[in-house]
Amino acid sequence: DTIGADLDRAVALWPDREALVDVPSGRRWTYARFAADVDELACALLASGVAKGDRVGIWAVNCPEWVLVQYATARIGAIMVNINPAYRTHEVEYVLNQAGISLLFASLRHKTSDYREMVGQVRGRCPQLREAVYFGDPSWDTLLGRAAPDRREELAARGRELSCDDPINIQYTSGTTGFPKGATLSHHNILNNGYFVGELIAYSEQDRVCIPVPFYHCFGMVMGNLAATSHGACMVIPAPSFDPKATLEAVQQERCTSLYGVPTMFIAELNLPDFGTYDLSSLRTGIMAGSPCPVEVMKRVVAEMNMTEVSICYGMTETSPVSTQTRRDDDLEHRTGTVGRVLPHIEVKIVDPATGVTRPRGTAGELCTRGYSVMLGYWNEPEKTAEAVDAGRWMHTGDLAVMREDGYVEIVGRIKDMIIRGGENIYPREIEEFLYGHPKIRDVQVVGVPHATYGEEVLACVIPHDPAAPPTLEEVRTYCEGRLAHYKIPSRLQVLEVFPMTVSGKVRKVELRETYGA
Ligand code: ATP
Ligand code: MG
Repeated sequence: DTIGADLDRAVALWPDREALVDVPSGRRWTYARFAADVDELACALLASGVAKGDRVGIWAVNCPEWVLVQYATARIGAIMVNINPAYRTHEVEYVLNQAGISLLFASLRHKTSDYREMVGQVRGRCPQLREAVYFGDPSWDTLLGRAAPDRREELAARGRELSCDDPINIQYTSGTTGFPKGATLSHHNILNNGYFVGELIAYSEQDRVCIPVPFYHCFGMVMGNLAATSHGACMVIPAPSFDPKATLEAVQQERCTSLYGVPTMFIAELNLPDFGTYDLSSLRTGIMAGSPCPVEVMKRVVAEMNMTEVSICYGMTETSPVSTQTRRDDDLEHRTGTVGRVLPHIEVKIVDPATGVTRPRGTAGELCTRGYSVMLGYWNEPEKTAEAVDAGRWMHTGDLAVMREDGYVEIVGRIKDMIIRGGENIYPREIEEFLYGHPKIRDVQVVGVPHATYGEEVLACVIPHDPAAPPTLEEVRTYCEGRLAHYKIPSRLQVLEVFPMTVSGKVRKVELRETYGA
């Protein structure tokens, strides 16, 4: 199905159920109202001359209009381009031109970002950009004013022209390892993935999903929005950008049954000084994904946040995104220690990254995946697409993984993050998991930094529980002594207050290496 047709189904089944709640503004939509507002916006876009395949940009923090734009562009077959809300003029200019965006939706402002002012600065250098529309601004009302009722027939006609294999979205990767790449995705790609993710956590019209992760990233708009609307669940927006207090307040106030986050978000919530005062009894499930999910953190989420059925998902923007997921009935060991089993209708194989030969179960290699979820390609970058997706349509993920005998997958780490010290391969993940157990360490990232003799050495960057009493290198080394092989024991320590992060909440190890590697 197309995303528009799927929304029609949701409205027919659950017209009066809540579809969307924006906690900061208190605005609420039932499915019937949500679909009516989506159609009004879609008609306004038709009236503005947006053709099938035109690129419509969205450069905004989380808000209800973001979701309306997502479904309205899908309804008319425009290709929505998600732009990172943390971008500044130089980067947004690049995306506007690279994707050839003719109409741009943007937040007016958020914190210190004045989006309208930044658009003003680059507009002259973006010849294809015809119109910019800001949320909560007269330009939004002007756009909607064009939606005359006689456009309904035109909208239905446009719907009949669409195929589920059409591109409808360009999503940028997080930029964790370098410059973000724009993955072009179809209705079929992301609607199926959202649907199956929702199936595996048993979403129904009874569920209320708290989404503190950014919509601009696949975690928010696919695993969040599409998983919810394809099952009649309600999307709850706790705040425009991540805020641990606002998130737990939203869960409590809206009686959310599901909560999303990357590991660092859950760590921030669990460590709030008033964490114990929130009523989280409505929670049943949720998703932790995006980066390695420490076992200690998973266990606390299950025990202290009442998320007894929480899932870990593994995937990447290029694969719509999810490839493997833990199931509700998996035992705690599988649910916290692996990224689960492969999703229905998706294939996974583990290969020798050098030769491409499939490795036996139980041995590490590069994870490759194939199926409906593999992107159409990187937008306008055929060479990069060919490097990532081979002739057999296998996506080469760049992640090292093990397929266990029992079919569960363990992620070892990114090939790019592997440390090679004096010929020994070291996986940062293993050391990080170990150091999470240190009583003075709240969060930890391990990276390889250049070393004259060994090639690379191990640097541990830690955020201490108490900034006034950070662990010393000696303490960390003593803690590891006798429990980790000598070559894995960090030889350098850097105490930090925060890690450099992507907007999707991932730690930029590249930046840690660059800043502290000298
Ligand atoms: P870029 O490709 O721009 O460097 P990125 O790879 O972080 O950034 P995303 O598509 O957002 O961009 O993230 C996909 C990657 O995130 C995966 O390739 C994997 O390395 C990591 N990842 C996702 N889920 C998990 C998980 N559950 N456990 C470990 N790693 C994960
Ligand atoms: Mg990537």
